[in-house]
Amino acid sequence: MSDHATSTLKQGFRGRLIRPADADYDTARALYNGMIDKRPALIARCANVADVIACVNHARTEGLLLAIRGGGHNGPGLGSCDGGLVIDLSGMKSVRVNPADRTVRVEPGCTSGDVDHATHAFSLAVPFGIVASTGVAGLTLGGGTGYLTRKHGLTIDNLLEADVVLADGSLVTASATSHPDLFWALRGGGGNFGVVTSFVFQAHPVNDVFAGPIFWDAKDATAVMSAYRDFIRTAPEDLGIFAGLKTVPPTDPFPQPHWGKRACAIIGAFNGTPAEGARAMEPLLSKLPAPLFNWMGPMPFPAMQALFDPFFPKGLQWYWKGAYVSALPDEAIATHIEQARNAPTDFCLMHLYPINGAVHRVAKDATPWSARDAMFNMVIAGISPDPAHAEALKAWGRGYWKAVSPYNQGGGYVNFMMEDEAEGRLEATYGDNYRRLTEVKAKYDPANLFRVNQNIKPAAGAPSTSSRPSQEKAADLGAGAAG
Ligand SMILES: Cc1cc2nc3c(=O)[nH]c(=O)nc-3n(C[C@H](O)[C@H](O)[C@H](O)COP(=O)(O)OP(=O)(O)OC[C@H]3O[C@@H](n4cnc5c(N)ncnc54)[C@H](O)[C@@H]3O)c2cc1C
Repeated sequence: MSDHATSTLKQGFRGRLIRPADADYDTARALYNGMIDKRPALIARCANVADVIACVNHARTEGLLLAIRGGGHNGPGLGSCDGGLVIDLSGMKSVRVNPADRTVRVEPGCTSGDVDHATHAFSLAVPFGIVASTGVAGLTLGGGTGYLTRKHGLTIDNLLEADVVLADGSLVTASATSHPDLFWALRGGGGNFGVVTSFVFQAHPVNDVFAGPIFWDAKDATAVMSAYRDFIRTAPEDLGIFAGLKTVPPTDPFPQPHWGKRACAIIGAFNGTPAEGARAMEPLLSKLPAPLFNWMGPMPFPAMQALFDPFFPKGLQWYWKGAYVSALPDEAIATHIEQARNAPTDFCLMHLYPINGAVHRVAKDATPWSARDAMFNMVIAGISPDPAHAEALKAWGRGYWKAVSPYNQGGGYVNFMMEDEAEGRLEATYGDNYRRLTEVKAKYDPANLFRVNQNIKPAAGAPSTSSRPSQEKAADLGAGAAG
């Protein structure tokens, strides 16, 4: 990228432009996944919508590869690129809660912890994921599953509106009544359609929850997983609870005699009183042997959301494989247990997130996220602090995924895919919605400017936006961030 081009962008830019020669370049380019090492030519840390528009126009006119970074948590590092321009939204972090209608306006640099913090003051919460340091933007655009999903749906099912900077540099608001085709595509189609500069979510009454992990020795894994499978079908929807195969972390606060033991865990949150929560868990726990430890108890919802953050600091090596699971026959459980046993490090895990309840009540074509009939969103994550383990993590993840694939649907959650597997799986992932996504892509981004993502190619021959959509939000373009 030439100095001349950069100085053109610099004019009027209110954020920071970070180049390879800058002292903080390595810090600024570092991604959550330490396995991914990308070197952009320019990181544009935007201060506001006007900065984002300037970056989009600059990338388009200069023919630059363009990446969009929200929380930077993406597995394959799709929040960055080699040699191109990164729109870094991490400085745009305002959250504005409207307790009257229980809505929340969120800027795209927020983590889910930022939003949980703001909404908790009003005893409200939006359904996000289970790790508070995850970016709201990428999580939402891919779908979003977490503890509140069974009761209130995916994150996208709670998205009411989004402001989007399109490929031609214009800003539009997408909602059920404004650019409804774009609004449809944003709810699961990823960052393919533009840069979202503001999200409006529906929040729900949530305050203290009865929550935490329960760990059993791996010898009980068959009993725990099969009891969980049967229980979750009809468990109260206020209970958001997932099963996992993992290792007891060899660190405090875990009981030292159990450090490093292969384990089966059930981890969840009940939105209600401790007595109600204990009652909800009783049909499951009464069928199972005594756990190694049961740490379910009352805590503020944001505390539960952030419970795992200390165990997964930025910079670990991650290799992800995901799939949607319709059913979990006994043979599948046996295969999972066998594969998990061979995990190359104590950090590695498999989680089965339940996606029944409210998720099933949304039509398959209401959003691109079409796995509305699946029971679980499964993830296999090979994790290690040591880069020397990278190949072992990949080999384990791929082998595990292959072994259980006869029991899974063809598609998988785009936010749990590495780049090397998404190509060829996107059609299966979106099913009957795939064609429509390619048409919306052709309309809003015919030249595929936004392609550093799980990329949906523009449909050939589909009409594109022939004229520049009106600047709907001129008032928002100044220095002040919304909210
Ligand atoms: C430890 C951990 C735990 C997780 N737990 C969950 C979970 O419980 N539930 C769940 O659903 N997912 C979970 N995820 C997956 C998570 O949803 C994805 O990693 C997601 O991509 C993170 O979003 P981000 O904004 O941090 O990512 P980034 O790397 O910043 O971006 C990811 C993608 O989104 C695009 N994008 C980002 N911001 C914008 C924007 N403003 N406009 C347009 N496109 C944009 C980027 O181009 C990129 O393609 C987890 C991930 C990690 C690492």
